[in-house]
Amino acid sequence: MSDMLLEVHGLKKYYPIRKGIMNKVRGYVKAVDDISFSVARGETFGLVGESGCGKSTTGRSLLRLIEPTAGEIRFEGEDITRLSLEEMRKRRREMQIVFQDPFSSLDPRNTIGRILEEPMRVHGTGDARQRRAAVERLADVVGLAKSHLQRYPHQFSGGQRQRIGIARALALQPKLIVADEPVSALDVSIQSQVINLLQDLQSEFGLTYIFIAHDLSVVKHICDRVAVMYLGRIVEVTSKRQLYVTPQHPYTQALLSAVPEPDPNIRKERIILRGEVPSPANAPVGCAFHTRCPRVMEVCRNVRPPLLETDGGHFTACHLYTALTPVSQTRN
Ligand code: SF4
Repeated sequence: MSDMLLEVHGLKKYYPIRKGIMNKVRGYVKAVDDISFSVARGETFGLVGESGCGKSTTGRSLLRLIEPTAGEIRFEGEDITRLSLEEMRKRRREMQIVFQDPFSSLDPRNTIGRILEEPMRVHGTGDARQRRAAVERLADVVGLAKSHLQRYPHQFSGGQRQRIGIARALALQPKLIVADEPVSALDVSIQSQVINLLQDLQSEFGLTYIFIAHDLSVVKHICDRVAVMYLGRIVEVTSKRQLYVTPQHPYTQALLSAVPEPDPNIRKERIILRGEVPSPANAPVGCAFHTRCPRVMEVCRNVRPPLLETDGGHFTACHLYTALTPVSQTRN
């Protein structure tokens, strides 16, 4: 069996824009626009970008919580986009998600014990006694006390609720967890506790993570590789080390310049990007970043740069690295 747990090819999620009394399709919001990547077993793969770049849509599409428009999603070699809804429901035992705000996904009328038991009951796992024992173990694994199981979601802090969200995701012993901004809503001190917990659980259960975040400082501590997204596309993907030491894409360089430097002796120049992120309903022609790029060239306004391997395992979509690429291969 391949050591790749997940292989994504040409994933797209387009939303039609309908107008007029005939409700005709006049265009598309290209939330995710033809992205490909793979994630090895036991790896933590980061998806990073500003709000609206398509990272959360990608995360949800991978689990088919929203249906992709096109593309292949191979999980353990099987293209799950072809599964029926019932087959997908069974497959989803192995692919779980942790949300940014678990509170909104925790039923306020149920105790935590009941919430953690629910996925096992739905999937018919064990009998009542076995499920109760599993729930107590889950609580223990994420650092909650047995007494917490009788309480309701509103009785917990943000950090505790995220522990509950993680415990619920673990209930069916998944292989892959998509963590969608799992620490963005938490205080900085609590963020590191949750990240440490995720890392401990990864070692204990051999989990694979897709970790979604809007800034590069969070993923630095947990990811093995990172993909940077802009307007629905991956613009750079490489190992965490290469990304932080030798970032290539001007957008990645700008994001990194905004990450606070803990060493006061190191001075960093902040790269301020001009303008707002364009709408994915009306993405610029050529390089989608050209309207904000400090290094824009004429070619960037007309020709979309392909994602090319520029160094061992380092892929970048930018004309600064495609000087020798024939234009005929890169036209939109
Ligand atoms: Fe900037 Fe051009 Fe590279 Fe796009 S292709 S990131 S506009 S230099």
